[in-house]
Amino acid sequence: RLDIAARLAKRLGARVREDAVHAVDGVDLSIRKGEVVGLVGESGCGKSTLGRMVAGILPPSEGTVLWRGQDLRGLSGAASREAKLRTQMIFQDPYASLNPRLKVQEIVGEAPLVHGLVTRAGVDSYVDDQLRRAGLDPTLKKRYPHQFSGGQRQRIGIARALAVQPDFLVCDEAVAALDVSIQAQILNLFMKLRMELDLTYLFISHDLGVVEHLSDRVVIMYLGRAVEEAPAEEVFRHPNHPYTRALLAEVPRIEARKRAFAGVKGEIPSPLAPPSGCHFHPRCPLAFDRCRAERPALREVAPGHRSACHLNEAT
Ligand code: SF4
Repeated sequence: RLDIAARLAKRLGARVREDAVHAVDGVDLSIRKGEVVGLVGESGCGKSTLGRMVAGILPPSEGTVLWRGQDLRGLSGAASREAKLRTQMIFQDPYASLNPRLKVQEIVGEAPLVHGLVTRAGVDSYVDDQLRRAGLDPTLKKRYPHQFSGGQRQRIGIARALAVQPDFLVCDEAVAALDVSIQAQILNLFMKLRMELDLTYLFISHDLGVVEHLSDRVVIMYLGRAVEEAPAEEVFRHPNHPYTRALLAEVPRIEARKRAFAGVKGEIPSPLAPPSGCHFHPRCPLAFDRCRAERPALREVAPGHRSACHLNEAT
């Protein structure tokens, strides 16, 4: 759970209690080695905050983030350094995360040199290997980020992450800024790297269609809470939560679902004043009295499939 009350209040000019807003509240997420977990929800649902906590960039105000069974906050020295290197983030805007004054060879080679993963004599060929692995021509390594397209810049970001030999990638809207054809290329690259390097992924996206072919398991978030969690196939074949079904209706190629359920209506409410009970009730076509008063618990609706909706208790 991460308190962001002060920051949000400042931005929105609102007055709130320090403990009033939680970007992520009561989410219990475990990711097994080698697994790809898709984390999906609209902008503002807390998924990026959760991703940063998982990556160790933001500490939770309550609760723990365990890495190989150890609390990240309890790690120090070599163990802390290893945890940070082993988990890398890939961001939506690769240009913003690449230093425009550095050449690609410096961007990719700097961290492995600093951390002693490669010698100065070997760094050139090491950088070439990372660029090749990310699908970039190593002869371009003396160029600056602005000389590349958006897709190529994302590949540079991926090469930089791979250069410190991670085993876990947290990809935060990593293809959202790219054209659809380039999106497919980058998603294929992530899958190829998964096979080659035995990588684990947390793949964060606002678009269920993006995580469809990538994820083993999908977690749907709404206003800081996990509302549905299941193996990916189960989410797409048998979605349970009304919010998931509305998100699925917005995936163009899932025509049957589109006809069966409307897309998500209206705007996501402000986390400064989340709706009572089930946070989704003002937008839910199936809401009834209890939804406004009582928070639904995340309950198992099928093996490995959990959903937080009062309708599951009524049936
Ligand atoms: Fe809709 Fe009620 Fe279920 Fe929430 S608990 S998703 S409002 S039916």
